[in-house]
Amino acid sequence: MAIVNLGKQIFCVQTKLENSTLSSQVKITIWQINCDYDLMADVHTKEIRSYNMSRIRSKNTKPEMLVRKFLFSKGFRYRLHDKKLPGKPDIVLPKYKTVIFIHGCYWHGHSGCKYFVVPKTRTEWWLEKICGNINKDISTQSILSSKGWKIITIWECELRSNLIHSTLSNCISQLS
Ligand SMILES: [Zn+2]
Repeated sequence: MAIVNLGKQIFCVQTKLENSTLSSQVKITIWQINCDYDLMADVHTKEIRSYNMSRIRSKNTKPEMLVRKFLFSKGFRYRLHDKKLPGKPDIVLPKYKTVIFIHGCYWHGHSGCKYFVVPKTRTEWWLEKICGNINKDISTQSILSSKGWKIITIWECELRSNLIHSTLSNCISQLS
């Protein structure tokens, strides 16, 4: 994984060997992140950074609770944050061999999403974190699908009041 900064456009590049035992085809995935500002120096100390990091909740977030409550009300039963599965999926429905990830648009770098705005300070540091998360998500999902799991990803922006209904019904239709 590499971060390439070309002026006002930043590319997060991941190279991956596809089917590595059989072919040498290299898959290159590029996320383009548009930046309308200059990269600024990282002025935060390590302590402040880890404090900020600790403030970011990854479990039992509001979007996650919305999905959980909805599924439960429709009679679905699930496990939460199963440590035995790669990426500790937010919701695991063993009966449907399906996992659901509920991703924050910012933290997981929702490509093309208007809610994914890279901060103006500590930009490179944040980009590195976010690109790291994107790569982790990709490898987690490829392991899960290779083990036969169906993966549903719900983005936080898809749970806004005007979209939540269609998002959740779409989720259920994928379960049947
Ligand atoms: Zn989004």
